[in-house]
Amino acid sequence: LNTNLERLNGHLARFRETGILNRIAGRDVPGEHGVFQSVSPVDRSAICDVARGGASDVDAAARAAAQAFADWRDLPATERRQILNRIAEGIEARAEEIALCECWDTGQAHKFMSKAALRGAENFRYFADQVVQARDGKHLRSPTLMNVTTRVPIGPVGVITPWNTPFMLSTWKIAPALAAGCTVVHKPAEASPLTARLLVEIAEQAGLPPGVLNTVNGFGEDAGKALCEHPVIKAIAFVGESRTGSLITRQGADTLKRNHLELGGKNPVIVFDDADLDRALDAVIFMIYSINGERCTSSSRLLVQDTIKDRFEARLIERVNRIKVGHPLDPATEIGPLVSEEHFRKVTGYFEIAKADGATIAAGGETVGEDGYFVRPTLFTDATTRMRIAQEEIFGPVLTSIPFGTEEEALRIANDTPYGLTGYVWTNDLTRALRFSDRLEAGMIWVNSENVRHLPTPFGGVKASGIGRDGGDWSFEFYMEQKHIGFAT
Ligand code: NAD
Repeated sequence: LNTNLERLNGHLARFRETGILNRIAGRDVPGEHGVFQSVSPVDRSAICDVARGGASDVDAAARAAAQAFADWRDLPATERRQILNRIAEGIEARAEEIALCECWDTGQAHKFMSKAALRGAENFRYFADQVVQARDGKHLRSPTLMNVTTRVPIGPVGVITPWNTPFMLSTWKIAPALAAGCTVVHKPAEASPLTARLLVEIAEQAGLPPGVLNTVNGFGEDAGKALCEHPVIKAIAFVGESRTGSLITRQGADTLKRNHLELGGKNPVIVFDDADLDRALDAVIFMIYSINGERCTSSSRLLVQDTIKDRFEARLIERVNRIKVGHPLDPATEIGPLVSEEHFRKVTGYFEIAKADGATIAAGGETVGEDGYFVRPTLFTDATTRMRIAQEEIFGPVLTSIPFGTEEEALRIANDTPYGLTGYVWTNDLTRALRFSDRLEAGMIWVNSENVRHLPTPFGGVKASGIGRDGGDWSFEFYMEQKHIGFAT
């Protein structure tokens, strides 16, 4: 812990001195509305000042992105691939710095964040390899025409990201946008600005021309809104809450913005009594109690068959009570503090809601310490599907367990929320697994597995969990336009 703290302080010294400025056209620019303070959730101490950008900063960044667009679009694919690969190398070289800063900024445990930085590098490498393919078109002959379909980058785009695993998620949007030939204005979450700054620095050092990636810090209702409304910005790639997704859509209406929305979830993990229960137990724990439960794909509802419920829950309680809550930079810590005071209040508010609704707090349900925003990993049992703890996205290390009798009942409960991001099915009956997955309302389903990302596959949700897909060629569908040319023959 002490070594990590020492290293972190070394990395933070420069931010303390200069604060975090906006980065526009390769230059540091102060925010239109002065600064706001970034605070660590570990002990509520100030980290540094952050530029508080507004509409005029967004305008400058959008113009910079528009100016840089034609050259970036026309750069030979091999050169673009080289730059993206160099960004990946830059991320790998500074992975430790990224991980430490991210832990301090967001409260997420180093044990998990050290890998998240490398996932960011992987995102760049993967899309670097796709650069050539992004340009591929099709030749579709008809009797009188040779039909050629080409793909062109849509133009400058806005990327708006949340505070949970902010570095990895930013790369997941920015890498394909750059690979497609788009230029970017990035508005990172106000609660976690540190690693967005590191990313733009790494990109520029890797040779990304000025103006191709611009960062404007600030609040959603101000800088974020201005980005959605800006006429030069052709599309918004957004990751965040479902209700913010609605605002993004509304704000972009006048300029006919193309939006990609990756939103909230209340994902079910369904455990049938014929499953490998040891593996299911490990996965249930991993998918809600790692990364503080602050992840969109977390399985926050456990649907467990009544024949095994008591046994499974007893083992779960025993394991949950052993999870280590602590300083996020302690390598042994599994759960760090929640990201902010506001979020801490939200999550802890569900302890009372659960009791009032008649559920049982079988583990946790308490805060830890006085300084930061720490909560114990929590398990609610005796819940029913209509309770708020079974319907609303809590976004913390909090699991709601609901029993079911038949497959039909499990399906009805699984589909009984406004969300539809992921689902996890545990059974050794292959026919049931297929039948169930087919009828489960979710964009992504894993059978007998926790969430394992494979970058070429589509990522995204249905219902209130989002519109659009990322991953492989799906990313290019969003960042590019199809163009048809018919030649008379
Ligand atoms: P949020 O919606 O509050 O904020 C996300 C971003 O949107 C921030 O940068 C914020 O400043 C900005 N924003 C807020 N209001 C805006 C507005 N009016 N116009 C433009 N931008 C605005 O979300 P959060 O609390 O930072 O993140 C947590 C949420 O993100 C959870 O709901 C989680 O499920 C979701 N999430 C989804 C995915 C996914 O892939 N589906 C991934 C990660 C997180």
